[in-house]
Amino acid sequence: MSDLPHPAKEDHRIRPSWKATLRLHCPLCGKGKVFRGWFEIQPACSHCGWEFQREDGYFLGSIYVNYTLAALGTALLWLLLRVILDWPSTIALPLAAGFLAGFSAWFLRYARAVWMYIDLLVDQPLEGSWPAPDSKAQDPSET
Ligand SMILES: [Zn+2]
Repeated sequence: MSDLPHPAKEDHRIRPSWKATLRLHCPLCGKGKVFRGWFEIQPACSHCGWEFQREDGYFLGSIYVNYTLAALGTALLWLLLRVILDWPSTIALPLAAGFLAGFSAWFLRYARAVWMYIDLLVDQPLEGSWPAPDSKAQDPSET
């Protein structure tokens, strides 16, 4: 009875993939790699063209992801060592500090991928709303 457009027919939003995120692949297509080396992020997905570097400071929010999990893991380790195993603080403290530093460095890439996943989950892009990877290379305005 209504003349309003049916949103379910026109709204083709892409839901990001958790599995691809944990493999450090593009959360939208699951094929392109997010990282070029250990820390360097690709500018865009090599397969679907989704721009990983959205803007300056985009991955600043990944610090919250990294810190939350590192602090939670350190607190759990501390409880394990001190309360359950009853180890002295002189041993537990260096172990917990070492875990905090090591985990934060190791988890940095995953925290960035998770941050991108959260952003895409909150604001899911419309299918085909970004340029394909080949169209960027053929853009004459970039020459
Ligand atoms: Zn992709």
